[in-house]
Parts: sequence; C-alpha cells; structure tokens
Amino acid sequence: MTRIRTRVAIVGAGPAGLFLSHLLAGAGIESIVIDNRTREQIETTIRAGILEQGTVEVLDSIGEHSRARTVGHRHDGIELRFAGAGHRIDFQKHVGRSVWLYPQHEVLKDLLAARTAAGQDIRFGVTADHVEGADTATPVVFATDAEGQPLEIEADFVVGADGSRSVVRAAVTGSSTGGYFREYPFAWFGILCEAPPSADELIYSNSPDGFALISQRSDTVQRMYFQCDPEADPAALSEEQLWEELQKRVPGTTLKEGHIFQRDILRFRSFVAHELRHGRAALVGDAAHTVPPTGAKGMNLAIADVLVLNKALQALLLEGDERLLDEYAEVASQRIWKAQHFSWWMTSMLHVAPDASDFDRRRQLGELRTVVESEAGQTYLAEAYTGWPLAVGL
Ligand SMILES: Cc1cc2nc3c(=O)[nH]c(=O)nc-3n(C[C@H](O)[C@H](O)[C@H](O)COP(=O)(O)OP(=O)(O)OC[C@H]3O[C@@H](n4cnc5c(N)ncnc54)[C@H](O)[C@@H]3O)c2cc1C
Repeated sequence: MTRIRTRVAIVGAGPAGLFLSHLLAGAGIESIVIDNRTREQIETTIRAGILEQGTVEVLDSIGEHSRARTVGHRHDGIELRFAGAGHRIDFQKHVGRSVWLYPQHEVLKDLLAARTAAGQDIRFGVTADHVEGADTATPVVFATDAEGQPLEIEADFVVGADGSRSVVRAAVTGSSTGGYFREYPFAWFGILCEAPPSADELIYSNSPDGFALISQRSDTVQRMYFQCDPEADPAALSEEQLWEELQKRVPGTTLKEGHIFQRDILRFRSFVAHELRHGRAALVGDAAHTVPPTGAKGMNLAIADVLVLNKALQALLLEGDERLLDEYAEVASQRIWKAQHFSWWMTSMLHVAPDASDFDRRRQLGELRTVVESEAGQTYLAEAYTGWPLAVGL
C-alpha cells in the first residue's frame, strides 16, 4: 500500500476536476487529480458540445492551450422549429451574448495539455473507492492504482469531481444516491455522421413524432439526436431508418444525409445531491447534479461550481478562513436550481411525452408560440441559454 499527501485531492479528470486543479495551481495550491480512465479515453469520449460565453471567458485563463475561440464556432442564436416552421432566437439581439460550439473532449484536450505542461500530478487509471475522514482535518481517498495496488491519498480537502456515479458523494451526503431526483420517460438517440451541415445554427425541433436536435461538429461531421425510448437498442435501426426518423422530426426542412459512423443512447435525469459539502469534502459538476441535456447546461454548470469552490478553498487553505466554504452549497445551489429549471423547461416544452393527450400537445404548441412571439420570452431563453453571469470571477 502506498500513502501520498497533497493539499487538495481531486477525484475525476473531467472538466470540473481539471479546471479546479488549474485555478488552485494559479493560487499556489498543490493538488493531485486521479481518474479511473486512460488519457486517451478521456480525450475521445463524445459528450457535451455547447459552451456558454462565460465558460469560454474563464477557459481563456488557460492561455494558449484554449482553442475554443479559434477551433470552436461562435453561435449567435438557435432555431426553435415547430408546426413546420423555424423561428430564430437571436442571442445577440436580445442579450448581446453568444455560445460556442466546441466539443467537451476538445475542452478536455486543452485542459490536459495545459495541466501537463504545468507539471500537474494527474494519475490516469486510478480508481477511487471511498473517502474517509471528511469530518477531520485530513480526509483520505482510498483508491486502487493503475497496477491494481492500493493507494491512499491524504489531503487537507477532498473534491468529488467524479461524475454522476460519484463515489465521493457518500462521504458528503451519507449515501451514494441521496438527492432531489426526477426521471423522464424518454432518452436521446445520438448519431455522428459524415455529412455537410444542414444548418448554420442548432435546430431544436418539436414535431408530432417527437423531438430532434440538429447540431454540428465540423464542415464534414455532424451530431444529431432524436427522442427515443430509454430502452431502445442503438443497433436496432438501419442507417436508412435512422435518417427516416430524423427527417420526419424536422418537418418543413430537409437534412443533408451521410454515413452514420457512431450511435449512442443518452439517458435523461434531473438530480441534485442533498448536500454539496460536508466537513473537508465537497462535490462539483455531475457528482453534485445532473441535468437533461436539452438546455446544454451540464459542462457549463460544472465550471460554474468550480469557480465558487476555488474561492472557498483559497480562503480556507491560504488564510484558514472557512466562511466561503460554509456558503459554498448555498451560493452554488442558486445557479444549479436555475439551470435545473431551464433544462427541465426546455425538455418539457420540446419533447412529446409518451402519454401526451391532444390537450397536452396543443398546450405545448401554445407554449412554443408564447416564447417565439414574445420579446420577453425570447430574451429569457437567450439569457438562460448563453448563461447567467458567473457568481465569482477568477
Ligand atoms: C454520455 C454523456 C453524454 C453527454 N452529452 C451531453 C450533451 O450532449 N450536452 C450536454 O450539455 N451535456 C452532456 N453531458 C453532460 C456533460 O458531459 C457533463 O455535465 C460534464 O461532463 C460534467 O463534467 P464533470 O467534470 O462534472 O464530470 P465528468 O465529465 O463525468 O468527469 C468525471 C470524471 O471522473 C472519473 N471518475 C468517475 N468515477 C471515478 C472513480 N471512482 N475514481 C476515479 N475517477 C472516476 C470519470 O472517468 C470522469 O473522467 C453528457 C454526459 C454523458 C455522461
């Protein structure tokens, strides 16, 4: 068994864990980041794709390694499509802000390049099992290293940035599942295809056959999703059937088709842990909460949590002041619940529930019209989608 010591033990090298290690290093605070996956797995897993303007601004702090502005694409609006017609929500016109289409795995490549160049201790293939001593001044992460040997990391503080199946959560909430929770009766069928873009901006489409999101990746590769049964088998449909499903969910427009080379099912859930901090342990990102992807909030919310926790850890570890840490859960929760509401609202407004009645369907179209025909409705959507101001600067 090996026991090592650091100031902050961070479990998870996702956007939350890596960005936190970057901010702490900037304040001279040493940390160790562990992740159970290999670097290659982390850099190639397809997940979120939309960065709020504030997220791009704070990622600028990693310097030359951040490629969001150079490789990513700025989007100044989205299209809401229903009843056979498209309606553009103009972000710049309504709130003077934008979002960037820049895939999560590219953000992770940038963060890993920056952290590696700075000599950050990142250990891949190391799996945390549990955390003990959150009530003491020296909590310990019990883990297994890449060779299968036991590893203990003793720290001044432990951060659970270990995603939706967090093992650190038990040390914070008292159970691995304890939280506010909502399930949805549908999931997303996601595809990657070799085709030119069908539109310049994202299309969020409501149709009698269900929801579709038409997104882009590059000039030659596109990402698209359509609403499906959570138990759907990704291999069950032929490419032709997949295109049929997608085309009928965007009535009034025609998608450019091409070879589908990846398919996956993305399940939906809304979750917020009952506690975000206990003693010398705290949760950030998906370990603390998950949102359905319709509002494009998951990765952005992870970065927002980290900004708040970073300030609290600096006060604790540099000045011995626990006050900001005591406020962490309350401050972070305000944005988390706004994002939960927005993600739920976009989901319920755009998807067709399996048991939807004629009344539900007509009411939903009324809701969509209320948004696109109202300056206030469009402004709310633009404000929430591009991201509320971040509570704490760098
Ligand atoms: C399949 C999938 C698709 C998604 N698609 C979208 C999307 O299209 N749009 C959107 O807005 N959001 C999407 N999300 C959500 C978004 O990707 C997350 O909100 C974001 O990744 C949160 O970042 P994080 O750093 O908190 O957690 P994660 O990115 O999940 O990182 C957690 C890290 O912890 C590691 N880890 C987990 N357990 C352990 C352990 N026991 N020991 C050591 N390491 C551990 C994991 O390997 C992982 O690298 C998706 C999420 C998933 C899972």
